[in-house]
Amino acid sequence: MSTKANHLLRQWDGPLTRDLVLSPGEFGLGQVPLKLSPNQTTRTVCGYCSTGCGLQVHLRDGEAINLSPATDYPVNMGMACPKGWEALSVLSSSDRATKPLLRNEHGELRETTWEVALKTFCERFKQIQQTHGPGSVALLGTGQIPVEEMVLLGILSRFGMNFQHCDSNTRQCMATAAVAYKQSFGFDAPPYTYDDFEESDLLIFVGANPCVGHPILWERVLRNRRGGKIVVIDPRHTETAQASDMHLPLLPKSDLALFYGLANQLIQCGATNHAFIDAHTNGFAEFAEFVQAWPIERVVRETGLSRNELHQLVDWIAMAERTSFWWTMGVNQSYQGVRTAQSLINLALMTGNIGRPGTGANSITGQCNAMGSRILSNTSTLLGGRDFANADHRREVANILQIDEAKIPTSSGYTYDQILDAVDRGEIRGLWMIATNTAHSWMQQERTRATLAKLDFLVVQDMYHSTESARQAHLVLPAAGWGEKEGTFINSERRIGLLKKVARAPGQALADFSIFRLIAHFWGCEELLENYDQPAKVFQLMKELTRGRPCDFSGIDGYEMLERAGGIQWPLPAGTELKETERRLFANGKFFHVDGRAKFHFTEPQAMPEPACGQFPLVLLTGRGTVSQWHTQTRTSKSAVLRKLYPKGAYIEIHPRDARERGIESLDPVEVVSRRGRTLVKAMVTPTVGLGQVFMPMHYPETNVHTLPHFDPHSRQPSYKDAAVEVRLSQEKRS
Ligand code: SF4
Repeated sequence: MSTKANHLLRQWDGPLTRDLVLSPGEFGLGQVPLKLSPNQTTRTVCGYCSTGCGLQVHLRDGEAINLSPATDYPVNMGMACPKGWEALSVLSSSDRATKPLLRNEHGELRETTWEVALKTFCERFKQIQQTHGPGSVALLGTGQIPVEEMVLLGILSRFGMNFQHCDSNTRQCMATAAVAYKQSFGFDAPPYTYDDFEESDLLIFVGANPCVGHPILWERVLRNRRGGKIVVIDPRHTETAQASDMHLPLLPKSDLALFYGLANQLIQCGATNHAFIDAHTNGFAEFAEFVQAWPIERVVRETGLSRNELHQLVDWIAMAERTSFWWTMGVNQSYQGVRTAQSLINLALMTGNIGRPGTGANSITGQCNAMGSRILSNTSTLLGGRDFANADHRREVANILQIDEAKIPTSSGYTYDQILDAVDRGEIRGLWMIATNTAHSWMQQERTRATLAKLDFLVVQDMYHSTESARQAHLVLPAAGWGEKEGTFINSERRIGLLKKVARAPGQALADFSIFRLIAHFWGCEELLENYDQPAKVFQLMKELTRGRPCDFSGIDGYEMLERAGGIQWPLPAGTELKETERRLFANGKFFHVDGRAKFHFTEPQAMPEPACGQFPLVLLTGRGTVSQWHTQTRTSKSAVLRKLYPKGAYIEIHPRDARERGIESLDPVEVVSRRGRTLVKAMVTPTVGLGQVFMPMHYPETNVHTLPHFDPHSRQPSYKDAAVEVRLSQEKRS
């Protein structure tokens, strides 16, 4: 390790948090002895989901020993779900990556030094680029690291290392909402604030199960001050549906027929807000003509819902002063997700349900920093929510970063699925994967793993060396996790929250921030990042990158202001006084298109590409299993408390009549079979799934064996919820 690199490490892993005191003493490769102020309590934000709860971390003798939900944080007001309560416990797991691991000539991952790891990283990627061209390497990032780290990575990979293909796991959860908002509003701008849960007369949840997926947001729903009715539109009788005033169990992928039909009915009964439509939108006349093709008989036929149910919903929307539409993955993870999201946006626009308390067409994000990724990761959009293809935007970014404009590509490059396809056909030979677990989370898992195995060089940068992806890597870079570094996350309601360093990373694990700086040093492009040696300095850069953009937060002085305010929602342009803790967009009816108007978008629905058939007669739905599990369980499986709160092994929920026809009882071992593979799981017989449908939680590797690789054409987001499968008693049980 060069003296300079050692010096930089010392600098970067020094005191990241002002309210913690780190020893200035000697340290090795990235390990800083902590001497924290004893018995101190400090506030941070949770690092799992996009709710962005505030957590109070309690320190004793300089060590974080426990935490509790922050009572003074405007998001969660003293509440937290089990994942938040257990956030510290998952840091001290025996499978934490504590040293770099390099695969040797015998195919074994063996410990190595940071110096060897970083030199190997740079040599191998450069060698691949020289041999196969600059497009032969790619990056898959994450919505789980702070914005400051995303910005550094975006600058380093795009402008320093000339990576042409960079995407992130937010493609799997939020790409659809981002594209839908951009096309409809002119910018990726979720319009709401969490107070809208409490201010709404009618809350319509579509493909969303906040009881399980966003439990603290569900608590906000339960605090509704206006006696708001709850409608759940979901094929499954979920926990949220069970608590609703009306559940509409529509047939899988009939959402567009339902929402076009609703629009038609609302127009026919005169429940449109013409003053709003005329003043603030474009395209309504064409939309109104289009939806005439969805009379109620057709909607009944295509959705499986009853005429009465549809009339009831139309009446409730027509009568409510404030209707809010909320959606998550049931909409986003669809081969026609963008148009489905926009069919909800259209309903909000045509009824004037936007920009007022308790209204909105509101996408709830998934990961803790998916919103940060959407505007500042430099993957699908250029820094600041700009377009790579726009010459003015490229010039603005070049000026801010003081780099040659020619370094900025004119295209965002391949999307996640296109990157993997390019790996499969040998076009991409080197892949850098950061805080994501593609080998588990991507669809058609066996093919995905075979695809990753084709890579000449796979680098996985992660907290744990045990993930399915890390086990396939040629090089594992050990990363610090939540609680072990500083920065900011942006939550679903656009609130920028402050993340604190309250624990030391184990062994030689480093903050991703430091790893990116080190890579820049070894790659030979450190001048790009030389002004950004601390997250707080990158935050000042983020302000400049958003200045003048719809997401402008140049009015936030710095971390101290975020700390005082309890997080701040964008926008907050320089010179704006922060008067309220909760702010929604579009109160003035002005959208972000050049003419200030929102647009109606609509398209003829498409049939499911793999419908149920004689051989595979059941439609497989996927989603969250329990409150205590997170995604591929990389972290949540490390908590003894959380593990007690969910089933250990994979299971499939099946309707009693489908089970009876197959001789299946609850807890029987069953085979799930699809065109893509076969897995052995336990059966759970329950009427919460519809007849002809089955449900598997996303958290177990057995699920994505069956999911079908197909994508929304606008967002390239995967459609995870409509594969055809069969379920039968296992061989062992049959014999
Ligand atoms: Fe963390 Fe989300 Fe749970 Fe809040 S709801 S404690 S942000 S995981």
